[in-house]
Amino acid sequence: MITIRVLLSIGALVCALHSAGAAAQQVVPAASDEFRVTLLGTGSPPPSMRRFGPGVLVQAGGQSLLIDSGRGVTQRLFQAGIKLGAVDALFLTHLHSDHVVGIPDLWLTGWLETPYAQRNGPFRLFGPAGSQNLMDGLVKAYAWDIKARIADQKLDPANVRPEVTEFTSGVIYDKGGVKVTAFAVDHGELLEPAFGFRIDYAGRSVTISGDTRFSENLIRHASGTDLLIHQVAAVAPELMRSPVFKVILDHHTKPEEAGVVFARVKPKLAVYYHLVLLGTPKVAAVTEEEVLTMTRKTYAGPLLVGEDLMAFRLDADRVVQLDSR
Ligand SMILES: [Zn+2]
Ligand SMILES: [Zn+2]
Repeated sequence: MITIRVLLSIGALVCALHSAGAAAQQVVPAASDEFRVTLLGTGSPPPSMRRFGPGVLVQAGGQSLLIDSGRGVTQRLFQAGIKLGAVDALFLTHLHSDHVVGIPDLWLTGWLETPYAQRNGPFRLFGPAGSQNLMDGLVKAYAWDIKARIADQKLDPANVRPEVTEFTSGVIYDKGGVKVTAFAVDHGELLEPAFGFRIDYAGRSVTISGDTRFSENLIRHASGTDLLIHQVAAVAPELMRSPVFKVILDHHTKPEEAGVVFARVKPKLAVYYHLVLLGTPKVAAVTEEEVLTMTRKTYAGPLLVGEDLMAFRLDADRVVQLDSR
């Protein structure tokens, strides 16, 4: 019995390694002048194998920029064919744990000299106030590992050093024709600061909402954007009587409200990510189909519910969904 179990689990492991490797090999790397956006994680705090934590990879002008580092970001980067050490900079929308819990893995595993990692240079992070404190705390928490790997594996300390830039708003990154603009969003009075990002390159742009309620400032900054990636939250009406659900919903954008945002921004394509669709054992979670139906009350344009590893190429005149799997 034990032997069978062991054999089965080894078999499962081999399978998993094989499929993960295969997935990574199938991805066609982004050309140096390509503007590609990959949804690494489209989920929220509930543990899900289908939807990992929030993370969006933006490849433009030969650079790889990561927006948020939620649960499982390293696995999805690997599947997307990106070395963990090849992320040039991480940008944080805000410091809620579901958006930053993947940092230690990205930071420390990305430091290893193995082929899937190999960061060469500091761990660059752009984040709101509190980000330096977060990284200082992580340096302290992982002091044993860092010291051990420098002494034992002779890893270069320069490649594990965090380089944190705390921003307020405006253009926070401008390099090689790639410009990142941070704008304040409205995640709730007790959750400030919280930001969305717009990334511009070669006359094209993607805007990522981060976590926000309906936000006029987002609409203003997203104006003219090609691809709008927006969070969404919904629960069955009867659950809104519970303070637990009410407080979560009050911090996010509901489908009908997101539809108004899309109708006003008029992107070439609107895509939902960071889906917060909650239920209980007795009350079913709102389905993705229902989210689309609710959105259609206020928006008739191009719209997709994002999936992990869904990828898009931003051309001069259109947004192309890539066959990334
Ligand atoms: Zn949040
Ligand atoms: Zn969140």
